Amino acid sequence: RAKAEGRGQARLFEPEMEHTALSRRSLELDLRSAWENGQFFLVFQPFFRVGDRKLCGFEALLRWRHPTRGIVAPATFIACAEETGLILPLGAWVLTEACRAAADWPDDVRLAVNLSPLQFRSGHMPDQIREALRVSGLKPSRLELELTESTLLEEGSGIHGALQGLRSQGITIALDDFGTGYSSLSYLRSLPIDRIKIDRGFISRICEDDPSRAIVRAVLQLSAALKLETTAEGIETEEQLETLRAEGCGYVQGYLLGRPMRATEARDMSFQAVS
Ligand code: C2E
Ligand code: MG
Ligand code: MG
Ligand code: MG
Repeated sequence: RAKAEGRGQARLFEPEMEHTALSRRSLELDLRSAWENGQFFLVFQPFFRVGDRKLCGFEALLRWRHPTRGIVAPATFIACAEETGLILPLGAWVLTEACRAAADWPDDVRLAVNLSPLQFRSGHMPDQIREALRVSGLKPSRLELELTESTLLEEGSGIHGALQGLRSQGITIALDDFGTGYSSLSYLRSLPIDRIKIDRGFISRICEDDPSRAIVRAVLQLSAALKLETTAEGIETEEQLETLRAEGCGYVQGYLLGRPMRATEARDMSFQAVS
């Protein structure tokens, strides 16, 4: 709307909106040039089995090396990339690049990749995934796709069918940031998923705050009943890890056990883990 109203008017009446619109526009332009100039790169954050802290795999996380602002996290730019459609080529690049990196790791170390709902709307997602696996040589059984509730709840988008097809090839589907969306618990039963990732928001308060612990316990019981795996996100303390172990959570991810790292470090870590 700001565009239609024109810059002069916006400046007169809504100085704050003008500022937002301008920085917004400059973010769009910056993103475009970032894509053209190869300023994106991936980092990889490990996840572990709770019982023995065995390294199970890494999640690929996108970063932007901005020429003046330094390293920019995805929260700043994913939404803009989605609105401008840049997420389609960018997401395809993430997939291929991450699969290439993971193909270098030992066979039992898995790769998780985050996907935006827009990537599924195009209808080309299953082909893109197959192509990324083909060029990288990564086995489908080593790939896990992370989707949020809003992606999975898109009715009539054919996404459930697409996910079933991917699962039948051995690919794992994880529901990311569980607990932050609005889906009813009973709906979980009908989703084509293998794993739930419990959002960091619950984990951070699990030791101080009884309600969070009760919610996590309920989610763990529910996912056990539905035969789903569970990963808890954002473990920062031994106390949180111990609580999750006591509650029966299978997998964890968080700064306590590993921060996001460059591909070469992830490779070293994965070879140390198997030797
Ligand atoms: P996510 O998939 O839930 O990823 C976990 C986020 O939590 C990451 O932030 C990670 O660095 C952070 N994190 C992990 N452990 C801890 C911890 O112990 N403490 C704290 N404070 N934070 C922790 P990041 O890398 O900034 O990513 C944010 C979100 O951006 C991701 O959330 C994901 O939804 C999205 N994202 C990242 N990469 C991609 C991508 O390639 N494609 C798409 N579509 N989305 C992406
Ligand atoms: Mg994720
Ligand atoms: Mg997550
Ligand atoms: Mg999260």
